[in-house]
Amino acid sequence: KTTPLPKSMSAVLIPKHGDASVLQYTISQPLPTLQESQVLIKNTLIGINYIDTYFRTGLYGSPDALPLITGKEAAGEIISFHPSIDRSLPQYANLKEGTRVVYLGEHTYAEYTALPIDKLVPIPDEISTEKAAASLLQGLTALTLVKEAGGVQKELGLSQGKWTLVHAAAGGTGSNIVQVLKVLGAKVIGTAGGPEKCELVKSLGAQWVIDSKSEDLVERVKEITGGHGVDVIFDGVGKATFDNDLEMVARKGTIVVFGNASGPVDPVNILRLGAKNVKLLRPVLFGYIATKEERDQYTTELFDLLKTGRLTVKIHEIYPLKDVARAHEDLEGRKTTGKLLLKV
Ligand code: NDP
Repeated sequence: KTTPLPKSMSAVLIPKHGDASVLQYTISQPLPTLQESQVLIKNTLIGINYIDTYFRTGLYGSPDALPLITGKEAAGEIISFHPSIDRSLPQYANLKEGTRVVYLGEHTYAEYTALPIDKLVPIPDEISTEKAAASLLQGLTALTLVKEAGGVQKELGLSQGKWTLVHAAAGGTGSNIVQVLKVLGAKVIGTAGGPEKCELVKSLGAQWVIDSKSEDLVERVKEITGGHGVDVIFDGVGKATFDNDLEMVARKGTIVVFGNASGPVDPVNILRLGAKNVKLLRPVLFGYIATKEERDQYTTELFDLLKTGRLTVKIHEIYPLKDVARAHEDLEGRKTTGKLLLKV
């Protein structure tokens, strides 16, 4: 069965860099044409990530010229395969027209996306499309940052467990990091802006929660850790929190800065790390899942956590694609908790 494809599709364009108001919803975008080794996907749910705002503002440069369709993540179903793909190969046996898939790719703010077949992840029957779309990028980020950047492996128990701190712990990525740390047995301090967000962070399993709007972060961490400080800090906020990180980190501790929600961290004089022999990292998810083996290993681990309910995803709102500007405003305005999705 082949349903004829429409001539045009809905999509969100970035015609110029700027605030959320530059996002331009259209229903007359031509469909992408399949290149060699590519597959055409009809997206049903698109994941919004903070990085989408960096490409919109121009903080991160894109190799593609403007106008640009942004977006790094979506779930949907396979529509067609480029003829160059040898579909008799065993690794493609579970990929057919209509198969539910989730993926990390480019140009996902659209009804249809073309991408290399090797990027597709079939969604297991036990996992809903919604859950898959809401957890792939942020769940993989949490797993890789915690294990590889933070060096937190299965801890021996709470008494021996490392002290960890997660900034913006009610956010999409933060809420995943908290839960992964809990699974590994770390002692988790979460921060969040406001009492409602703090409640959520507590319910995710953080043993200590600090309200970053009303409490003195550095003082509270001193109290909670009995003066030890935090062994591993996960910081996606960036500019606004980095100086505090250096105050709060324990001797021989690790600071993992992985984002710029408040702006990029100013250049750092590395001599500042000597005071406590601190390790400082600025990792990117894609550097941890560059090979197929790495991707498969972490995706399997993520699906396992989702299937067994040890990782839950909270969806803030599923916005209609045409309301994408409101979604970006909510995310940047710190009005959201958990994951934001777009529905085509
Ligand atoms: P979130 O859902 O976490 O939203 C951002 C949160 O950051 C807000 O809700 C807010 O929480 C907090 N925040 C603090 N200061 C500010 C500010 N000045 N402006 C806006 N928000 C602020 O978004 P994501 O989960 O999508 O992303 C979180 C971070 O992780 C981003 O920096 C992103 O770039 C990064 N990231 C990095 C990856 C990598 O590979 N390096 C991969 C994935 C994400 P509160 O009100 O509680 O302070």
